[in-house]
Amino acid sequence: MSLRRVCYDCGSHTTAPVARCQCGEPLWLDIHDGSFDWDDTTDDPGMWRYSPLLPVERPDGLATAAGGTPLVSGTRVDAFAGTNVHLKLEGEHPTGSFKDRGSALGVAAVDAGLVGDVTAVGTVSHGNMAMSTAAFAAATDIPCAVFVPDDIPPERLDVIAQFDPSVVTVAGDYGRLYDLTVRRGPDHGIVFLNSDVPLRVAGQKTTTLEICEAFAPEVPDALVMPVSSGGHASGAWKALRELTACGAIAEVPELYLVQASACAPIAEAYESGAEAVTRVDAGETIAYSIANADPPSGTRALRAARDTGGGVVAVDDDAILNARRALAVEAGISVEPASATALAGTKQLVERGVLDATADVAVVLTGTGLKEATPSGGATESASHVDVDGVDAFLTAFGGAGE
Ligand SMILES: *Cc1c(COP(=O)(O)O)cnc(C)c1O
Ligand SMILES: [Zn+2]
Repeated sequence: MSLRRVCYDCGSHTTAPVARCQCGEPLWLDIHDGSFDWDDTTDDPGMWRYSPLLPVERPDGLATAAGGTPLVSGTRVDAFAGTNVHLKLEGEHPTGSFKDRGSALGVAAVDAGLVGDVTAVGTVSHGNMAMSTAAFAAATDIPCAVFVPDDIPPERLDVIAQFDPSVVTVAGDYGRLYDLTVRRGPDHGIVFLNSDVPLRVAGQKTTTLEICEAFAPEVPDALVMPVSSGGHASGAWKALRELTACGAIAEVPELYLVQASACAPIAEAYESGAEAVTRVDAGETIAYSIANADPPSGTRALRAARDTGGGVVAVDDDAILNARRALAVEAGISVEPASATALAGTKQLVERGVLDATADVAVVLTGTGLKEATPSGGATESASHVDVDGVDAFLTAFGGAGE
């Protein structure tokens, strides 16, 4: 079996193992035969219940733990956002982010020989994707090369290194490195599972399949997710297009994408009415996982937002921190700053009257906050200190109100 790759923009297709169309836009996999309904889901675990829509059979092992994340509703976060939010907890994945969906599928496809004679996989990432690809490669016993920027914080590199990939720190332009590895890897038998390549997008569409199935036969009014490279958003759009094409959804939820205002090339293109996303000069943001100033699938993500009647917004670091805190203290959910942008964006859309108070909004919380503490969380300073003899007095004061 060879995988057909199609361009969303010009419609060209190819079975060559390439990630880009001749027109320059990213390709995605065309595997859908036009007949899927919710009854066609299988008994496979996690994301593999959508096997009829996936290009590879379910493998054993770690891949079976990808997908099937909870969708949590009815929390006090509704009051914070001003609407009904349904929180998709992608941080529940084995390596703590939705990247595991794409890694599980990509590594499985390589292992099944679907992309030719491959001896290794690789990725270009400074965080979640590196961890995820390395973990799924380790679980499948496929060598993995991870290219990271040379200014990566050592504690983050240590997390990636647990899975024993070959780590290469690289100086120079990240965008060029991204392209170069995707283009040249296959000549050397190495498939790069970078953010927006067809195999990764095919796995990442399952987030949206799960959300839509949870609402079936209805659909949520809106789907809100953070966006960086545009890979996950492309997966969302692909899922919605496939579900629409086969009649499994009657309406398309509006897809809203959220960026950090310090690095918001897609939001800026959206605001200005531009057809294409171009590179920006980015500033610093706490949402480092979504700080791609030159997103490879930016234009496709922009098209996804417009095509579904949604939009692209930007939120500043204060709004991100507020949203992150609301998730923790109102719902007990820890997310990394990049993920909190989805809730901050939802709140902004409600305040601007784009989403209304009665809407059902699926908010994709892309990654856990349990991997790293908040910078300057101040937990030690704000803790109470007593010695053991003082514990009883503390309990009296703390619980005393109830007596
Ligand atoms: C990768 C990532 C994103 C952005 O996804 P893209 O596919 O690059 O747009 C958002 N949140 C988290 C936690 C991520 O790791
Ligand atoms: Zn094209």
